[in-house]
Parts: sequence; C-alpha cells; structure tokens
Amino acid sequence: MSIERECRYHPGREAVVECQKMEFWYCQECLDICRACTDPCLYCKFRRECVIWELCRQEARKRCKEEAVSGQQY
Ligand SMILES: [Zn+2]
Repeated sequence: MSIERECRYHPGREAVVECQKMEFWYCQECLDICRACTDPCLYCKFRRECVIWELCRQEARKRCKEEAVSGQQY
C-alpha cells in the first residue's frame, strides 16, 4: 500500500486536504481538530475556496483572538 500524500503531522497517514498557501497536506483528523490552518490570522488569498477554512473558520477566528490576548503561545 502506498500513500500519495502524507499528512504533515502524521507521517504514514494519507492526507485528504491541502493548504494551498503553505503547500502542506493534512489528514482527516487534522482537519477535524482544525490543525490544518497554521496561520488563520494572516491574509490568505486561497481562503475563498479553501476547504480547511470553510470547516475551521469559526475555530480559527477564536484561536486568533486568544492568541492576540495571550501572546506567543504557539
Ligand atoms: Zn494528520
């Protein structure tokens, strides 16, 4: 069994979505927990058609605010 695309965080696991901006691939689990968008606070020109953003924008916005409040946590 060969894997065409590997998850950035889970080597050996098949990825399902790509961050077009960063050109990284992520698995379903990473998508589910919204780990797949690494820079939700920054402008992204792919966002309008981004699957990750579509599913994670609420979570991403929340994280963005928390980050702004608590400083460099990541
Ligand atoms: Zn993963």
